Amino acid sequence: MTALVIAEHKIDKINDETLRAISAASKLSDNVNLLILGNNLQKVVSHAKAIETIKKVLVIEHEELADYQAEIWADQVTEVLIKTEKIKFILISNSSLGKDLLPRIASYHDSEQISDVVEIIDDRTFLRPIYAGNLLSKVSSKQELNFLTVRANRFVLPKTSHGSVVEKNLPFSMPRARKIILKKNGSVENNRIDINSAKVVVSGGRGLGSADNYQRLLLPLATKLEGALGASRAAVDLGFAPNENQVGQTGKIVAPDLYIAVGLSGSVQHLAGMKDSKIIVAINKDPEAPIFKVATYGMVADLFDVIPELTEKIGK
Ligand code: FAD
Repeated sequence: MTALVIAEHKIDKINDETLRAISAASKLSDNVNLLILGNNLQKVVSHAKAIETIKKVLVIEHEELADYQAEIWADQVTEVLIKTEKIKFILISNSSLGKDLLPRIASYHDSEQISDVVEIIDDRTFLRPIYAGNLLSKVSSKQELNFLTVRANRFVLPKTSHGSVVEKNLPFSMPRARKIILKKNGSVENNRIDINSAKVVVSGGRGLGSADNYQRLLLPLATKLEGALGASRAAVDLGFAPNENQVGQTGKIVAPDLYIAVGLSGSVQHLAGMKDSKIIVAINKDPEAPIFKVATYGMVADLFDVIPELTEKIGK
C-alpha cells in the first residue's frame, strides 16, 4: 500500500513541514510517494529526489498551479487518487495550506479526515490532541482511504541520499468548476525564518501596546537570535502582528528550542501552540500571569525596560 504526501514548497525547496510529513508517511508504508504541484519545479523536484524515504516523485507542472488555489489543487490530487491504485494514505502537514486543502479532497471521497496526528501507533490507529492539547484522543480508522494532516514538529526530518528516486510526470487536469478567480497573491509575512521550523521564536502579546512596539522591540531581538516572530491572538486581532505569526490553538503549533514570551499572559489557547518548546522564557509585569506556570525562566518586569537591554547584551 502506498502513502502519498502532498508537497508544500517555497523558493525552490520542499518545506520542512512536508519533509517531516514524509517521515510520518514512512511509518505507514514502505512505498512513500511525494506529489509536487506547481510551475517551474525543476529545483524543487531535485530537492525531493534527494530525500531517502521517498520511492517516487509525482509531478504535475502547469502555469495554473503557480499559485496555490484549493479547488484546482484538490482536483489534481483527486485525479491522482483515481488513476493510481493502492494509495491508502494521503498526508499533508497541518499548515494553513494543509488544513485548507485536505478536508476538501477527503469530502470528494466521502471520507473523514483525521486531523493533527501527533503519533502513528499502527496503520489504523492514530493519536491526536483534543481540548487545546490537554488530552490525547486515540482514533482508529476503518476507512479505505485515510486522509491525515500531521503535526509536523512531532516527526523527525528524513535523511537525504543520492538514491535513485523515480520521477513521473502527470498531466494537468482541467478543473471541474472554477468558482474562484485569483486576482493577486500577496503576503504580509514578516518572518524571514519560517516559524514552524525556527529554533528560536520571540512572541509578543497585548502588552506590547502597538504594532510599532512589536516591530521595534521584538524584531531586533529575534534577528539577533536568528529566530522568528510569533504573536498571541490578541496581538494579531489588535493589528500588532500579521495573522501568519499567531501561535496557539487557532494558529501555529511550534516547539522551538527557545520560546520567548513577551507581554502575553499565557492563555490555554496560546499554551496549546507552544508548550512543547524546550526552554520557555516569560517576561511579564504580572507575577500571577499563567505563562509563569510553564516557563523555564521567568522575569517579572516591564518589557519596555527589559527587551532593549536584553537585545543589547546578547552576543556581547
Ligand atoms: P492578555 O491576556 O491581555 O495578556 C497581556 C499580558 O501582557 C498580561 O499578562 C500583562 O500582565 C502583560 N503586560 C502588559 N503590559 C506589560 C508590560 N509593559 N511589560 C510586561 N508585561 C506586560 N490566543 C492565542 O494566543 N492563540 C490562539 O491560537 C488562540 N486561539 C483561541 C481560540 C479560541 C476558540 C478562543 C476563545 C480564544 C483563543 N485565543 C488564542 C485567545 C486567548 O483566549 C487570549 O485572549 C489571548 O491569548 C490573550 O492574548 P495576550 O496574552 O496577548 O493578552
